[in-house]
Amino acid sequence: MRIQRMRLRLQWYDLTVKYRRGKDMELPDTLSRAQLPVNKPEMEGLECVSMLHFVSVSEQKYSELQNCTREELSCLQRIIRQGWPDHRHDLPNELQPYWDSRSQLVVSDGVVYKGLRIVVPPSMQAHMLKLIHQSHLGIVKSKQRAREVLYWPGMSSVIEQMVKNCGKCADFQNKLPRQPLRPTETPSFPFEEVASDLFEFEGTHYILLVDYYSKFIEVDTLKNLHCRSIIEKLKAQFSRHGIPVILRTDNGPQYAAEEFKVFCQSYGITHRTSSPHTPHSNGEAERAVQTVKKLWAKASDKHLALLDYRTTLLDSVGFSPAQLLMGRRPRNSLP
Ligand SMILES: [Zn+2]
Repeated sequence: MRIQRMRLRLQWYDLTVKYRRGKDMELPDTLSRAQLPVNKPEMEGLECVSMLHFVSVSEQKYSELQNCTREELSCLQRIIRQGWPDHRHDLPNELQPYWDSRSQLVVSDGVVYKGLRIVVPPSMQAHMLKLIHQSHLGIVKSKQRAREVLYWPGMSSVIEQMVKNCGKCADFQNKLPRQPLRPTETPSFPFEEVASDLFEFEGTHYILLVDYYSKFIEVDTLKNLHCRSIIEKLKAQFSRHGIPVILRTDNGPQYAAEEFKVFCQSYGITHRTSSPHTPHSNGEAERAVQTVKKLWAKASDKHLALLDYRTTLLDSVGFSPAQLLMGRRPRNSLP
């Protein structure tokens, strides 16, 4: 019986069995005497995993997803469970678009996944499109945002069409000149080098802080433009993210003030200001200001717009600013 059970369990594996004398088997021998406390034979090697614990989505949305999947993707689910035919043309028409992804499709918990991405049933696609584009990010960013977590056949081209046809995006496309690309040397860790700038948006003054490493942008409202208020906001940011080694700013009166110099010295920050010879040395902050203004001009919720920017992959590195800075993916409105 024991050998039989062992053979049954090993059926899954392709292995070669070799004989070793008992005295040459120190390690397995030791391990067999140090068993784990749990020893329920029927549960051994099995673990129940609910994807709900890993997908950041409300239970209500998740059950909507399950319902729509059951109603609209039942055919696909059946094929995934029963196995795919040998040829594409043996599939019913509506399933043909899934053919190329067949090796990655799984059903878990009543939801179809393509790898780690949720396969969105047709009736929920419009809603997802809205979420993807809620902050009016451009075509490339919108696609990247979606591709990380969602899938349906033809999703990319639908997103492209949606952004191209978006009135708000078209309005703003040509109003702000494109910023030229200026390569800068990337520091080796987050908040090593940061830049700050002040800007005004719809009658309110703001102070912006951008991290050179992660491109993470922080924006604070300013009640006034006193040097002290600016220092206070920066102190709060540094207490959150750490004190930077280098802080870059322009030569604005607040940044050039004696009080600011004293602050940088007491915090051990090297303060670099742009000079007439290098007017663009604060380019990173200026670019970030443009990014924020562009986002806000189209967004109904300033904070959600910033969250979307922070959690969207940067083209150049393949990670989002939040991932680079915090090493995790903060929950956002996309599942
Ligand atoms: Zn748009």
